[in-house]
Amino acid sequence: MQMIPILVKNRITTTAAAAKPELSLGHKLNLTENSIGGNIKMSRSSYVRVKAVNNCLSGSGLCGRLTSLQGKKMIALLPLVAVIAAIFVYFYYMKWRDQWVRSRPFPEEWLAYLTEALAVYSCLSLQEQHRLRQLILVFLARKRFYGCAGLVVTDQMRVIIAAEACLLLLNHGWAVYPKLSSVLIYPSAFRVTREELQPDGVVKSSEHHVLGESWGSGRVILSWDDVESGATDFTDGHNVVLHEFAHQLDAESGTTNGAPRLRHNTYKSWSKVFMENFEDLRERSRRHQTTVMDTYGATNPAEFFAVATETFFEEPHQLYETRPELYNELCQYYQLDPRHWHPKGASQNTHTPYK
Ligand SMILES: [Zn+2]
Repeated sequence: MQMIPILVKNRITTTAAAAKPELSLGHKLNLTENSIGGNIKMSRSSYVRVKAVNNCLSGSGLCGRLTSLQGKKMIALLPLVAVIAAIFVYFYYMKWRDQWVRSRPFPEEWLAYLTEALAVYSCLSLQEQHRLRQLILVFLARKRFYGCAGLVVTDQMRVIIAAEACLLLLNHGWAVYPKLSSVLIYPSAFRVTREELQPDGVVKSSEHHVLGESWGSGRVILSWDDVESGATDFTDGHNVVLHEFAHQLDAESGTTNGAPRLRHNTYKSWSKVFMENFEDLRERSRRHQTTVMDTYGATNPAEFFAVATETFFEEPHQLYETRPELYNELCQYYQLDPRHWHPKGASQNTHTPYK
């Protein structure tokens, strides 16, 4: 029977004591090959643990290398952890800031702009008016306004645009167009040049006079003349602010296609109702029939949603009577019913019934 060198024995002894405290000192001091082999056969995991700890005790073994590697990995992860922490702090700060902004008093002169220049404001309930003022405060604290073509942006312009944009959010949570950063205002309709693919395959440039544009890059462009007339007459079914900010809501899903992110509707029902009504509007547009919805909504599903939103807020009775399913989908989406804001029969627009 061959005895194990004392150095090995000591290492095993120490290791065994750490891994298996139940081993007696006698075992440790009189280990033989047989006894070691017996231990290995009895418990492979113990053996592996013994080897690892032995290496560790040797001063430059595997455990030391593992510790070093883990340390390097931890250091490499530090920037990621810092970024995640910074994002968390940023969102927490912005939430806190929005709450603080909402609690600020609403300036008297701003209130005068609402009561004098935004016809629908006085039709809202007191609770809706209060919530709208809170949303306006957040909107104006977060978004930048720029005058174009020499226009000087006034507080009245900022308040009226913010108010109409936030009408869409009255019961829509506290997220105030998170992707939007700036609003550009032209004095009146502005010219844009667009390249359009013709039926014969030729791309042709043409100039358009535009009342407003919504960009996925966080910009909305508006003609002030049309913003003002839309705020004054809130019953004609035309409102460039409602239209462009409906596009902004649509874009929050990642694609501007008439299917915004839904929280209260089902996509199945939304898709069915919107496609049926879109096809109906296209057909009526081809026949040059007058409808409660502007036929510009027949351009594509995104424009249909924007035009439907304008009609929903400005001509709710007419939309409900002609397209009840569409109206109910929009009621669910916006979580409100604008029929309460409008005396029935206020609009003189004519239309032919849907179906
Ligand atoms: Zn549009």
